[in-house]
Amino acid sequence: MQKFGGSSLADASGILRAAQRIARTRENGYQVVAVVSAMGDTTDELCDLAAEVSSRPRPSDLDALLSTGELVSSALLAIALADLGQAPITFTGSMAGLITDNVHGRAQITDVRPDRIRTCLARGEVPIVAGFQGRTKKGKKVTTLGRGGSDLTAVALAAALGAGICEIYTDVDGVYTADPRVVPRARKIGVLSSEVMLEFAASGCKVLHLRCVEYARRFGIPIHVRSSFVPAPGTLILPGLDRHPFRKPVREQPVVTGVGGVNSAAKVIVVGVPDAPDSMARLFQVLSRSGVNVQTIVQSAANSGSRRSDVALIVPAPEASPALAVLGAAQGTIGFQGLQYRGEVGRVSVTGVGMRSSPDVVCTFLWTLSEAGIDVDLVEISETYVAAITRAERLADAERAVRLAFGMAPVAEDAAGAAPRPARDRSLAGDVRWGYDLRGFAASPASRGS
Ligand code: ADP
Ligand code: ASP
Ligand code: MG
Repeated sequence: MQKFGGSSLADASGILRAAQRIARTRENGYQVVAVVSAMGDTTDELCDLAAEVSSRPRPSDLDALLSTGELVSSALLAIALADLGQAPITFTGSMAGLITDNVHGRAQITDVRPDRIRTCLARGEVPIVAGFQGRTKKGKKVTTLGRGGSDLTAVALAAALGAGICEIYTDVDGVYTADPRVVPRARKIGVLSSEVMLEFAASGCKVLHLRCVEYARRFGIPIHVRSSFVPAPGTLILPGLDRHPFRKPVREQPVVTGVGGVNSAAKVIVVGVPDAPDSMARLFQVLSRSGVNVQTIVQSAANSGSRRSDVALIVPAPEASPALAVLGAAQGTIGFQGLQYRGEVGRVSVTGVGMRSSPDVVCTFLWTLSEAGIDVDLVEISETYVAAITRAERLADAERAVRLAFGMAPVAEDAAGAAPRPARDRSLAGDVRWGYDLRGFAASPASRGS
């Protein structure tokens, strides 16, 4: 599977470059399915045009319009590829079998039926699929998957076709520790896990679409993010090496993999912290210098007009006393009004994939706690977990209720039946599981221990 982003197809030379890349891969003996985005800023320009015509375009009409950008690039790529002696066949998302719900502008994939693509591959042809689009099941209306959604098309087709790898060709040569256009000193990452990539994507790293990473993780699809312009290897994103991929692609939906409870933290409130820009930094500095690991900081307005706020700190339980001692010593210099120790707290969490894009999981979690009469102090939502801080003595009740709500066995039963986990195999060189040559990808700091 090779996906070419809009930045790689911005002009005729970009189209030719992509065609050459596909032809070379074919000549090396591989089957290729290509997925394309619209050329350059085409989708933005189509959005602007629609806005000039109407201030309230119907979402279904917008989808009909925006989906045309990808049709242009697929046709141009086919023209270029045919010149190189290949047999390209163009596909709309609908023809490629991408079935979605009917939420125009942000449709979710409900099924993938790529029979026509399989037939095409069996005949030695090269399917070129317009990314970012699908069709509704009933009305067969064209839908789009959300901005940047061609990445998702590629991964969903890769999963349905059993592709060995999904290559995402773009205008950077891999995933960096930060956007290399904004942070010139950012470092390129050689290999990283889908879990880490999920966190990257969820915090705004747009090199890969968030839902594409979720999908790849669920279905065990390795992704290679690489440059359209230079041949060197880019960044390999490997799904959890200790997970068995799902056999059959199903609809996009959150996957809850576990519920956990930990009772090892304590809460300290710093009362009446002056509203100065450096107050938080100074508090944190005092604590970190004496080795206290602050897990969570929440600032809340004390009284309106007081120009002070309260800061709640969650720290590991054994570090609560040292935290109180060092903060007490710094009260004069930081200028806060007092300290309160609120005792030990528990943290109950639901882990999985797609937490941030699935309000249903968060709602179920919070309703369950509320119905069980558990007071929640604060809630953390990340891409891979939703967690709530509760009073320590209510943690067991909280965990029991949440496990029940998500259909998990009670803790004791779970522990008795648990099979020993196989050790992770971290060796990459010469690994043939993915049907892809993994040599040349240096294990990088970001992949270690993830
Ligand atoms: P495409 O047109 O190929 O889909 P995108 O514009 O969607 O490309 O994504 C590529 C861009 O992502 C890069 O040009 C880069 O500026 C940006 N980006 C943001 N964060 C990162 C990161 N951590 N690593 C690499 N690229 C990043
Ligand atoms: N062309 C679409 C967009 O600009 C989809 C994509 O680029 O992946 O959002
Ligand atoms: Mg993109």
